[in-house]
Amino acid sequence: MQFIDTHIHLQDYKSKNAPQIMAQAVECGADKFICAATSENDWAEVEKLTEENPERIIPAFGIHPWHMGTITSDWEVRLEGILKKYPQALVGESGLDRIKNPEIEPQNSIFRIQIELAKCLNRSLIIHAVKVQDWLENYWKEFPESFVFHSYNGKVELLKKVVKANGYVSFSHSILRNSAREEILKTVPLEKLLIETDGPYQSKNDEESQPEQIPFLLKEIASIRGEEYQKLSEIVYQNSKRFINGKS
Ligand SMILES: [Zn+2]
Repeated sequence: MQFIDTHIHLQDYKSKNAPQIMAQAVECGADKFICAATSENDWAEVEKLTEENPERIIPAFGIHPWHMGTITSDWEVRLEGILKKYPQALVGESGLDRIKNPEIEPQNSIFRIQIELAKCLNRSLIIHAVKVQDWLENYWKEFPESFVFHSYNGKVELLKKVVKANGYVSFSHSILRNSAREEILKTVPLEKLLIETDGPYQSKNDEESQPEQIPFLLKEIASIRGEEYQKLSEIVYQNSKRFINGKS
């Protein structure tokens, strides 16, 4: 059984020991890790991890809505430069978050620039979206061919719109705590399902979440969806490879 952790922040673990975190996960079948940067402050660290682990890490570079206050005046140029330097890189973590900031601007403008970059460079876009269902109405036709609503834990109504727009949906452990998990998980078409830890965040307890926990999460999802674990794992693995390649 192979799996790809499609969203992790290896740079954020307390131990700062990405090789050890990955090694433990590799023993459980992990193949690759999409390591998402969140602001210009961690791009260099994600670059370094990518250079040191080229077989394992696919980087993603972007501005997370929580960190929009830290952008420099030439962030767009820098982002385009780093994405061109790493042709395998995805765009993100990007998105919109009303809990962190009730104002639509400047997060809307910063998000749109990242959407355009993903479209121009044919990269997948990683989206963090919290309590912004109405704002998203302006975006459904704007997204690139391949995009993901990551660590999905929102409303079924919004999820149906993501599915209609042909987006991927990625789940972390947080979905298992959602009382509507069965309806949510069954709403996503098999070929659009991805899996992630969002490590070190979103753990099932107070500890940092670890990518070695992914088989457990996949088993839970398979059983809730009423599917065979092995078959689901294989399909999710193929989905992850398409997603990495910028394909829907
Ligand atoms: Zn994240």
